[in-house]
Amino acid sequence: MPENEKGTLLKADQVKVHFKGKNQRSGTVKAVDGVSLDIRRGETFGVVGESGCGKSTLGRTLIRLIDPTDGHIYLEGEDISRLKGAGLKEMRRKLQIIFQDPSACLNPRRTVRQILMEPFEIHGMDKGKDAEERIMELLQLVGLDAYHLSRYPHELSGGQKQRIGIARALALKPDLIVCDEAVSALDVSVQAQVLNLLQELKEKLGLTYFFISHNLNVVYQVSDRVGVMYLGKMVEVADYDQLYEKRYHPYTEALLSAIPQVNQEDQKERIHLEGEVPSPTDPPSGCRFHTRCPKACERCRTEEPALREIAPGHQVACHLYDA
Ligand code: SF4
Repeated sequence: MPENEKGTLLKADQVKVHFKGKNQRSGTVKAVDGVSLDIRRGETFGVVGESGCGKSTLGRTLIRLIDPTDGHIYLEGEDISRLKGAGLKEMRRKLQIIFQDPSACLNPRRTVRQILMEPFEIHGMDKGKDAEERIMELLQLVGLDAYHLSRYPHELSGGQKQRIGIARALALKPDLIVCDEAVSALDVSVQAQVLNLLQELKEKLGLTYFFISHNLNVVYQVSDRVGVMYLGKMVEVADYDQLYEKRYHPYTEALLSAIPQVNQEDQKERIHLEGEVPSPTDPPSGCRFHTRCPKACERCRTEEPALREIAPGHQVACHLYDA
């Protein structure tokens, strides 16, 4: 790995995920269409974008729950894009996910003990007393206790279910966890508790997060760096504070203008984007955002802007900032 990438835990290089439609007329869905990024060990890399922009598909592809159509994914310098069989299973231990809806991803017929035992059974690890001890340790880490072991998911609150989802993701001591809209289904007060818990766990266990949300406000609260996605492409990437200070891409500007500010004088004028997000089956030519961009010009309709660094650590894909 090159010298400047020593801190990189996971790297994506021109990753594409295209899904074939059910028949010829439905075409090919270009859910992720050439995304490159690096996730540094110990950071939270937040990804934000509207529903359907490809952020969840990207997150699941980075941990190989979905196969990339093209491009490469490197974990600690090793190309994991085409791993299969035992190699893929071993790698999965290091890469885990917390899903949006804890009710949908916990088996309703299994107790908390059985749910937390599953990762050990699948990977043939920590049986018997060792596993019991590890399960108790996991419960404590997420703020629950032995009382919950014999409970079924329907006996738990939404926040408790998500804590079980987090405990299960932690079971195999992963390096990277994809948090896929992990707090979106929770009440606002529970959201804050779960975000605090994720932050505590990150510090205590040295975790790295790829944190996906449609809500820029939530992403801002937890992220060290933020990537903004639009229609399968990354359009802006920067440190949290850089992006807060200065956004360059018109799409990021529009997302930020929708966040309510505590101080009225900090409130930006709301930028309303016209129209729907175009179909990823037939994305617009040139800059994919041109059909909704208030600053689009003729060039934007024909020429695709590259994601380029316009300030140290700050990348933008927009012709307005071409040198
Ligand atoms: Fe808007 Fe053009 Fe920039 Fe795309 S390249 S974001 S259409 S100004």
